[in-house]
Formats: sequence, structure tokens, C-alpha cells
Amino acid sequence: MNDTIVAISTACGQGAISIVRLTGDDAVEIVNKAFRGKNLNKVPTHTINYGKIIDNGEVVDEVMVSILRAPKTYTKEDVVEINCHGGAYVTQKVLEVMLKNGARMAEPGEFTKRAFINGRIDLTQAEAVMDMIDAKTKESLKMANMALRGDVFNLIDKLRAKLLNCIAKIEVNIDYPEYEDEEQITQNSLKPILIEVKDELKKLIEKSEISQIIKDGVNTVIIGKPNVGKSSLLNGILREKKAIVTNIAGTTRDTVEGRVNLGGIVLNLVDTAGIRETSDVVEKIGVEKSLDAIEKADLVMLVFDNSQELTKEDLLLLEKTKDKNRVIIVNKSDLEKKLNLENLGDYILMSALNENDICILEEKIKEMYKIGNISEIDATYISNSRQIGKLHEAMNSINDALEGVYSGQVVDMINIDISMAWKALGDIVGANASDSLINELFSKFCLGK
Ligand code: GDP
Repeated sequence: MNDTIVAISTACGQGAISIVRLTGDDAVEIVNKAFRGKNLNKVPTHTINYGKIIDNGEVVDEVMVSILRAPKTYTKEDVVEINCHGGAYVTQKVLEVMLKNGARMAEPGEFTKRAFINGRIDLTQAEAVMDMIDAKTKESLKMANMALRGDVFNLIDKLRAKLLNCIAKIEVNIDYPEYEDEEQITQNSLKPILIEVKDELKKLIEKSEISQIIKDGVNTVIIGKPNVGKSSLLNGILREKKAIVTNIAGTTRDTVEGRVNLGGIVLNLVDTAGIRETSDVVEKIGVEKSLDAIEKADLVMLVFDNSQELTKEDLLLLEKTKDKNRVIIVNKSDLEKKLNLENLGDYILMSALNENDICILEEKIKEMYKIGNISEIDATYISNSRQIGKLHEAMNSINDALEGVYSGQVVDMINIDISMAWKALGDIVGANASDSLINELFSKFCLGK
């Protein structure tokens, strides 16, 4: 028996319509108690019904009520949606009437959690619901849709089935050694299966890195000495004046953030204080932040000034970023060249004040990430850190199992690693999810979802 929960499912604030949603065994009855119109207990399922919500004999609102009876609903339980007028007060009032009549206030994500617990969706689909709400680009929305359709689930399920088949056979061998006509599993028979699973996991991990970029964006930091044109570059890319631009060295003292969609890849841009030796305490914090930002960045845009010679700070930055994904930008191409461009490697000579040059830079970045058209990429994406972490866990266990095969370990021992890989993959789809994991995941949802 599921208690009945209720929440306002639409965004807070004024709008044309707000939806108060209920799910649970008594959802219809609870609404019916406050409903003047048809008897909702008797209306056919999947209908929308006109009437009024009444409290203490007074009309609270004129509403349309959708009656959706189990099991063909979002939660697989009875669901009722009350479409009321979109004022904040009236919506709140309808909610209160439902609470008074016996519903309990839902926790964030509890509707989707019920959909998961009742087996309508797996964990990857539940997470896709959240990704869909968070989607910032067409591509990330598309990816969430694929996951919601069950593509991720199907893929993981196939891998799990392969592993489970091995586990089952090994266990039969152990438990019933007398069954001689049963296939005897040996290291040699396990090897090709484990190699196949390993290859598929490897591909999936590689693809998941691209998916994560599509979903979360590339954390991009713009660094360089003061006055080389970092803020101008940021503004050029953002096409708005977000960072303050001046010609006094050291004006941008803190990080400024902005987001830009480059043909499907979101750059999360951070402009940092210029790097230079300084006695100014405030700016020193900024400089440390820059070095810290390099550490954390996925992509570094390192800016030099074409009209100045390279200094030891520039060389320090070149050194600090040498192992990062970076674009070297030689800015102020319109000014007379004083910079020695030798030893810089691959660089772009441009002006941050020239829109055309900004476009060339953007093309270069797009090319670096080679995301291309998402519809051409295989539709199986794993894009959240939790799921990717589990893929790595599964990969480690498969590697251990293969190691066992190569070193001639007994099959029972190898089976332990195979089982661990199977379990890690199960965690992705929520096959054996613990209550605490489920609670943690769903608490990140919006209320009413
Ligand atoms: P930051 O300290 O590195 O953020 O540098 P700013 O973006 O504040 O730019 C410093 C100065 O250089 C400003 O006066 C800008 O207008 C100027 N500047 C930026 N880019 C260019 C460029 O491509 N050409 C020229 N001539 N000036 C530029």
C-alpha cells in the first residue's frame, strides 16, 4: 500500500496554469472529497474532468482534473493532476486542501522515485529525467531522451547478460560437478568473452567522456598576464560585456563566469586575474586562483600579447599548462609584432576585438572536441559521473578477471571478479541499488517531479 503524496509540479510564481499532482492508492479519493463536479471515483481512466475545488463549502478554484489510473501512469500508481489557475496563492491553497484531505507532502523527486521503485523505469532513465530538466543545449536534451528511451539500460543489460551467463555456468560447475554433460568452463573458454566485454566497456568509457562534455560542458579557463586581452576575449566569445575591460593592468581581479554554446559544446568560461608577481594582497589571491583554475580546467586558453616580448611569467604559464588541453592565443595581431613566436608550438594569431577572428577560434575549439553532429554518434551514452564511475569499476574487475585467466587462476576465483563487474554494471541501472543511494539520487530532483 502506497501512501498518497502531493506536490505542486509546475514552477513557482505566476503563470496561466499550475499543476498540483498526486500519486498513490487514495489519490482519486482525496481529490474527490474536495471536488464539485462528476464523481471522480466513477469517471473512466485517462480523462480530464471539469469542476471546482471546494474547501469548507467555499470555492477555491475552477479546475480541470486528469484522472490516470494505475498501471499506465508515470508512477504505475493512481495519479491525479489538478490543473488550477496559475496564481501562487491559489495553487498553494489547492495543495493545502489536498494535505488536509489526507495526502502527504512529496519529497523532491519522489514521483520519479516511485516510478523507479514500481519498476516503470530503471535508474538510468530516472537520471535521464533529471538531465532533461537540466539540459542546456539541443544535444544534451537529445542525449537525455535517448537515455530515457532506455538505450543505456539496453546496452548495460546486454553486457550484464553475458557476464551472468558465465557466472551461472561456473556456479553450475561448482555446485553440480557430477553433471558431466554440462559445459565445463575453463580459463580458455572465459577468455574470449571477457575480452569482448572489456572491449565494449572500453568503447563505452571513451564515448562517455564525449557525452559528459555534451552534458556538463567544458570548464574553460582564460589565462595570461594582465592586459593581454583576456577580458576582451571573454566578451568577444560571450558577445556581451560580462567582464570589465580596462587598460590598467590587473583590473580583472576575480573570476568571471559565462556560458557559451559552440555548436553543441557548452564552454563554461572563467576569466581569471592576470598572472604576475605582485605585492597587492587582493590580486595575489586572484593569481593563486588562476593557478588553481588551471588545475581544475578541462581546457585552457592561454593568451599572449603580440606587441610585447615573452616574459618569464609567460614561460611559467606555458610550462604550467603543457600537459593540459590548451589553445595558445597570440592576441593583438593588429599591433606591431614584438613577440617571438618560435617555440610556441601551435597557436592562433588573432585579435580579440575582431569578430571574424573570434569565429576562427571557436571553429578551432569545436574541431578539438570533434563532437560533430550528435545524431551521427552511436546513441548509447553514459553521461553522468556516477554511471561513469561504475563503468570504471566494472572495467577494473574485468581486468582483474583477465589477469586471473592469464595467470592460470582457478575459475572459482575468477568468478569473484566477474561477479563484481556484473554488480558494478547492475549499479548503473539500479538493479541492486541501496536505499541510501536511491534517496541521495532522488533528493537532487525538483519538487513535484
Ligand atoms: P586583460 O587584463 O588580459 O583582461 O586585458 P583586457 O581585455 O582588459 O584588455 C587590455 C587592453 O587591451 C584593453 O584596452 C583592450 O581594449 C586592449 N585589447 C584587447 N585586445 C586587443 C586587440 O586585439 N588589439 C588591440 N589593439 N587592443 C586590444
